Amino acid sequence: MQAKVRKGKIEIDTERCKGCKYCILTCPKGCIELSSNFNSSGYFPACFINQDNCIGCAMCAVVCPDIAIEVYLEE
Ligand code: SF4
Ligand code: SF4
Repeated sequence: MQAKVRKGKIEIDTERCKGCKYCILTCPKGCIELSSNFNSSGYFPACFINQDNCIGCAMCAVVCPDIAIEVYLEE
């Protein structure tokens, strides 16, 4: 029997994000990068990429100083 891989998903509040990159540096799965579009405060916010690789570990949310990331686990 194959071990079940946990699957996660994040949502980033791009208006709260200041583009500090802490989440990008912390994600073990390379699931976050900076957007090429800036937000209303003039920051390039983080965006969710390589979404199939997210394991829902929540490290990104833990390190975010602006509480801009919500993490969800799929059933
Ligand atoms: S929950 Fe974990 S794997 Fe998913 S984006 Fe955040 S740090 Fe990366
Ligand atoms: S850690 Fe938070 S504020 Fe910093 S880039 Fe990521 S989402 Fe934006």
